[in-house]
Amino acid sequence: DLLINQIAAGEVVERPASVLKEVLENAVDAGSRAIDVQLEQGGVRRIRVADDGCGIAKDELALALERHATSKIANLDDLERVGTMGFRGEALAAIAAVARTTLTSRAEGSAHAWRIDGSERSIAPAALGAGTVVDVADLYYNTPARRKFLKSEGTEYAHCDEMFRRVALARPDIALQLAHNGRVVHRLPVADHARRVAALMGDDFLAQARALDADAGPLRLSGFASLPAYSRASRDAQYFFVNGRFVRDKLLTHAVRQAYTDILHGQRHPAYVLFLELDPAGVDVNVHPAKIEVRFRESRAIHQFVFHALSRTLAESGA
Ligand code: ADP
Ligand code: MG
Repeated sequence: DLLINQIAAGEVVERPASVLKEVLENAVDAGSRAIDVQLEQGGVRRIRVADDGCGIAKDELALALERHATSKIANLDDLERVGTMGFRGEALAAIAAVARTTLTSRAEGSAHAWRIDGSERSIAPAALGAGTVVDVADLYYNTPARRKFLKSEGTEYAHCDEMFRRVALARPDIALQLAHNGRVVHRLPVADHARRVAALMGDDFLAQARALDADAGPLRLSGFASLPAYSRASRDAQYFFVNGRFVRDKLLTHAVRQAYTDILHGQRHPAYVLFLELDPAGVDVNVHPAKIEVRFRESRAIHQFVFHALSRTLAESGA
């Protein structure tokens, strides 16, 4: 069973950033208002995520670490319209198979918290005001072959930072903090989209960007797209979210690129933070465990909508 989980972990747990993604998404799914992330040594030594969400009841703690145990999907109908970030129920099992993992959690209404050790599966009382703390230490301590593929601390940290940014851009309604090696890197209070974008992308991006908010029937596209005056920072700044999920999708990238080419006659490095919302039944997020790709039911209509909405906005700029 441990071996199966270790093999399955290869799909889910590629590096510290993929652990962070799964644990952060669980905190978001738990309805948290505030999430605190602490990393050590690029996340290899430790990833600790504390949230103030609904918590996990004592008798569900062990289940949370089991493979294919999810509290989020009850039937196939749910799978058609997943509103949660996770739904496969394999992330925590995979993480616990390749790192020293503990869950400490206090479910709403519980007199105190409980902690489970991911390898011994022993449960003991613990102190915690509310929510959940997931502690993932020494990634790949038991699979040295995997550990060899980890990059430098700086590189692994950069991937974690990027993952944190994606969640933070999508959820300005959640207060988020990130610390690395004891130093606070991001401290993000609850904000509106514009202020959260400015906090993460810089005031200069916001000043040189067009806001857009367009809808057509069940489709809505909102966010910010840079104008030519904006000279991109060294970092990649192209964020597209579909129903709150960060995606890197050929169809969407093409629609954006085409709008920039047609209207602004090409901008070498357009920067944007765009949010597409549509009926969950019209998009399949089940394509890959890493869930960065999606498949649209009506891809032509989506492409046209994104292209036209963005073109209109860029054209209005008078550029
Ligand atoms: P999934 O997110 O696909 O359901 P995971 O392996 O990521 O699967 O998590 C397993 C289960 O553990 C979740 O379905 C949820 O019930 C519980 N869980 C994990 N993290 C948290 C958290 N931070 N707060 C509340 N419940 C959690
Ligand atoms: Mg999950």
